[in-house]
Amino acid sequence: MSMRILIIEDEKKVANFIKKGLEEEFYAVDVALNGRDGFELASKEEYDLIVLDVMLPYIDGITVTRELRKKEITTPILLLTVKETIQDKIIGLDSGADDYLTKPFAFEELLARIRALLRRKEQNKSIGLKIGDLILDLQSHNVKIKDKEIILTPKEYSILEYLMRNKNRVVSRTKLVEHVYDYHFDTETNIIDVYINKLRSKINCDSSKPLIQTIRGAGYMMKDD
Ligand code: CA
Repeated sequence: MSMRILIIEDEKKVANFIKKGLEEEFYAVDVALNGRDGFELASKEEYDLIVLDVMLPYIDGITVTRELRKKEITTPILLLTVKETIQDKIIGLDSGADDYLTKPFAFEELLARIRALLRRKEQNKSIGLKIGDLILDLQSHNVKIKDKEIILTPKEYSILEYLMRNKNRVVSRTKLVEHVYDYHFDTETNIIDVYINKLRSKINCDSSKPLIQTIRGAGYMMKDD
């Protein structure tokens, strides 16, 4: 399925130039020639990316960006503008846009930035953590090892997720306690050792080396190798 891109740009020549170029790269492209129509389309339809001019009739690009973000539409937005001051860039990015390109630009640069934004979007979609045969699904909270489901308590899950997110880094007991409990837990970091032992017995089914390693005097680490 091809990626859908919305271009909101009032200069017809520029809009058509971008549309034609993107279609040659096999993107599906819609064009809106003012901020109002663009906002409508962006709120109604699902796009993978929006190329948005800043100076537009009816509603300017910055306002369009702000209003879309207010509606929790998170489609990546690449702003196009003739302005080039730092202040304008800051306003643009603060409004919720993801990137910024100053006119006139080379089509190749536009394309490269679009590709980068789409890649980033794909990465954000990734919903799983994986270390060796161990897979943790961040949405369903399912944990599997070699396709076998592992039943964890919420605290065990929380510790495992934290260790997996920090893979290849040593995580101290204190950090784990802070992560697992909302309140301050002064000296009771031993509780973490209890959870870690339980976790180990659940996830270390048949692997020869422990998935969760004890780093003496420092804490725990999960290694990806
Ligand atoms: Ca314009």
